[in-house]
Amino acid sequence: MNKNDFPFFKDNELIYLDNAATSQKPQIVLDAMNEYYTSYCSNTHRGSHELGNKATEAYEDARKSLAKFLGAQTNEIIFTRGTTEAINLLASSYVKGNFETVILSELEHHSNILPWQLNDLHIEVIEVDKDLNIDLEAYEVLVKEHPHSFVSITHISNAFGIINPIKELIKIAHKYECKVLIDGAQALAHFPIDVKDLDVDFYAFSAHKAYGPTGIGGLFAKYELLENMNPYQGGGSMIDEVSFEYSTFLDPPFRFEAGTQAIAEAIGFKVALEYIKQIKGLQKHDKSLLDYAKASLRKLDGLILYTQAKNVSGSISFNIEGIHHDDIGILLSKQNIMLRTGHHCAMPIMKKLGIKGTIRMSFAIYNTKEEIDRCIKALSRAIRMLR
Ligand code: PMP
Repeated sequence: MNKNDFPFFKDNELIYLDNAATSQKPQIVLDAMNEYYTSYCSNTHRGSHELGNKATEAYEDARKSLAKFLGAQTNEIIFTRGTTEAINLLASSYVKGNFETVILSELEHHSNILPWQLNDLHIEVIEVDKDLNIDLEAYEVLVKEHPHSFVSITHISNAFGIINPIKELIKIAHKYECKVLIDGAQALAHFPIDVKDLDVDFYAFSAHKAYGPTGIGGLFAKYELLENMNPYQGGGSMIDEVSFEYSTFLDPPFRFEAGTQAIAEAIGFKVALEYIKQIKGLQKHDKSLLDYAKASLRKLDGLILYTQAKNVSGSISFNIEGIHHDDIGILLSKQNIMLRTGHHCAMPIMKKLGIKGTIRMSFAIYNTKEEIDRCIKALSRAIRMLR
């Protein structure tokens, strides 16, 4: 399904199952970026020459598309280098100084832990149950004990694929005057997101996990919150007036985009979103691969799964009894199968489970059941060799 859209697969026999780390890019995304570099490469928001205007228009068009994709207003979208930068921006420009406590779940990626620590914020943690689900009642107790806090939770766990009940989490947080950031890094490629319907305050994302280029992503923020936020970095393009005595800044979102931006990447991101929008049966495909992989894995001797949760998307994590996950990863790579082994930048949940890491298969639109069959065959071979 759709594999021909991706030049990466043209001249190789690789099976790529590391999509939660980054996805491959369709030709149309590469073409759009190439067109910018070869026919209207110039800087944005500066001067008045024709090429600059064309680049600015394309860059701002990308912002418009992204806003539409998320159900936001155009001026509520800040471009960043990705999810990590979006969370760091928010920690330093909004949370530090306004909140004492940040509430996280045990499933968070390091990108949603370190920015709070680096800004000296107190962290409270919502525990997950044996299936790695957040217990909503326990969550409400924690939020009630810490009203006016900042809640920051992943939409989908990158390590285990768990989809968190974010609409309920947001509603409960608002009941106790908390603000909420959802880390959407793993969600963009997997299902539609409507920030207005979610009533989320902030939503962070990266293009490269959703068929777009690396080096671009962003932060959605409700405009009334953005208005009161200070710039994250200073530099060109974000100012109204500068003198040696004082400077004033542009309105959001431009206030948060200092310096030359990732122009080609923003243009590529727009095309990636268009690509996602035209995919039919995205979630059905996702679910059928996950169900198939789970059923196939169960045939392996010594399989360890970490969750029986039904609300899972994109990834499946496991181990094989008595074998180190990295050894499996190396032997699969030798058989042309690329999947991720390790802690997946989610050390706290690994520690809770008493493991150093897992083997993770993560899927995209171009993966097939036949590839899963080949992966299981290669896994059986690796297990035989390592036992
Ligand atoms: N959060 C989650 C849940 C992720 O999966 C990732 C990437 N693995 C990030 C944050 C960080 O994204 P990026 O590296 O694109 O900034």
